[in-house]
Amino acid sequence: MSTAASTLLDLAEVRWTELASTRPDLRPAIAMQRSLVGRTIDTVERLAATEITDITLEPALAATKLRAATPVLRGEVLALPIDLLGPLVLHACDDLAEGGAGDVARHVRACIDAGRIDMSSLLAASFDRNQDAIRIKAMHESIAPDVLWLAAELAVGPAAYIAQRAVFAPQGGEPHASVTGALGAWPHGYCPACGSWPAFGEARDGVEQLRCSFCGLGWQRDKPACTYCDADQLTAVKTDPSVPQRAELCGNCGAYLKWLAPTAATPFELLPIEDLASMALDVLAAEQGFGRPSLPDLGGPERLPCEGLET
Ligand SMILES: [Zn+2]
Ligand SMILES: [Zn+2]
Repeated sequence: MSTAASTLLDLAEVRWTELASTRPDLRPAIAMQRSLVGRTIDTVERLAATEITDITLEPALAATKLRAATPVLRGEVLALPIDLLGPLVLHACDDLAEGGAGDVARHVRACIDAGRIDMSSLLAASFDRNQDAIRIKAMHESIAPDVLWLAAELAVGPAAYIAQRAVFAPQGGEPHASVTGALGAWPHGYCPACGSWPAFGEARDGVEQLRCSFCGLGWQRDKPACTYCDADQLTAVKTDPSVPQRAELCGNCGAYLKWLAPTAATPFELLPIEDLASMALDVLAAEQGFGRPSLPDLGGPERLPCEGLET
């Protein structure tokens, strides 16, 4: 393991230890995260060392897509490494089974083990955020759509992260000026890389960054309006009035978004930890009748149900 990876694991351990002492009720969730996050760290490192997920998207094309409200990875076909990512779907099923999903997750794994789901199509559908295709396949197989979706998402997320970095942080640096300009002008609440909703926002030094729940991209919110419906009927609630962390509730669409206040941007691999650590805000929002919306429907032929998952 590289120094960078072990540093991330050390950071994660510190957070889990703190969290377990303040919220003993979260220990089972933390145990599941130890397994999932550890694998994510390892997968990012392995993917970064290959060229398999390299995406060659010309900056001018990326900027054109952004200006047309299209996430840059949408419709891009990547050679996702099945040998590396496929086993991760199975491990994710095992972790979800251990973490409380039980037989529901074991049935999903059994279905994949039996060869009834084409792994390559599953990974591609997840990368392309095609929830309809995955839901319909799961229903055909009488397995839980949410578990199949989540297990695939946990496996493919690292590849989406590597792919978005190739566009937005090539060689770890700044993107092409045309991409920076188009990203700065992105007015939408969904991720400009993959089209998912943010997991939460991070408010730091007066700047509000939304963080994608799938690929981890950070992008700036340009106005204090609802991420999901653009309405400005927002109210904020807090679990503790003395801290900056808040949940923003939208009176128009009934959805909420958490705003955290870290001292530095959370690394992609550790986003689930901060999501779990701020769970009190999710509970507070849910108690008031607010929820998280399903994926945005961005239209396009690739959103239609497809039979690609059939073996
Ligand atoms: Zn994204
Ligand atoms: Zn709204």
